[in-house]
Amino acid sequence: MEKEKIKQAAEMIEKADYPVVLTGAGISAESGVPTFRGKSGLWKKYDPEAAVSISGFRRDPEPFWNFAQELLLEHDVQPNPGHIALAQLEDLGLIELVITQNIDFLHQRSGSNKVLELHGTLNKATCLNCNKKYDWEDLVPVIKAGKIPECDNCKSSKIKPDIVFFGERLPEAALNQAWEAAERSDLMIVIGSSLAVYPVASLPAVTQDNGGKLIYINADSGQQDYLFDLIIQGKAGEILPEILKIIN
Ligand code: NAD
Ligand code: ZN
Repeated sequence: MEKEKIKQAAEMIEKADYPVVLTGAGISAESGVPTFRGKSGLWKKYDPEAAVSISGFRRDPEPFWNFAQELLLEHDVQPNPGHIALAQLEDLGLIELVITQNIDFLHQRSGSNKVLELHGTLNKATCLNCNKKYDWEDLVPVIKAGKIPECDNCKSSKIKPDIVFFGERLPEAALNQAWEAAERSDLMIVIGSSLAVYPVASLPAVTQDNGGKLIYINADSGQQDYLFDLIIQGKAGEILPEILKIIN
């Protein structure tokens, strides 16, 4: 592994006044959450228009629930050492905020408290017809049985997870908070994101424009490698615990 670079990252994190983290699908890959793009990505199997667009969901929610089952239930998804190391860095006062594009709520499950979910979360859902709220836990038995969740209040089959579907806006309050944090931050650590999906992919440049430094921890090269002060290529679940070990 890239020992020298890992040491350098640890030093940058300890020195920073307001370090923030930006995560993408890559940090959950070692938990068994399939990615969307790439060879075995879910878009090879599901049509995004049918599975995760708001118009598709209103038409027929079944493709979405099949997709959700494969995303989180088929592999008994649990937080991995990368998520856990980030939660421990927050405990040490070394991470101010985790901004995530993920909808899998693994940061919260591993103990991170300060998390901004820019693409929403699968952890909660709302009936589009009567607004009754549901937790993921309430829906799991139904999805596992291969059925479509039905509202026990109004019998509608349109229980919509609180994720941002294609065709919907990002949550404005969370987006504003992320922008402010990026402006204020003197160090942003981007982990497991190709930085291809906007507007989130603009955040590292916001930090840099305000004089902050940038670290990239990713398995492959991404869309914006030229921005970064330090790039550590490899698995988040191996690199983050190494950084934590040096700090401890
Ligand atoms: P992306 O698929 O565009 O990029 C993922 C990046 O992670 C890739 O560059 C890849 O090289 C890297 N990667 C893969 N395994 C890694 C590992 N073990 N350690 C470090 N890096 C690794 O993902 P994105 O940038 O998050 O954008 C995808 C969109 O899909 C987002 O909008 C997100 O909401 C959504 N998504 C979410 C989940 C989830 O909730 N876990 C999963 C898939 C996609
Ligand atoms: Zn209802």
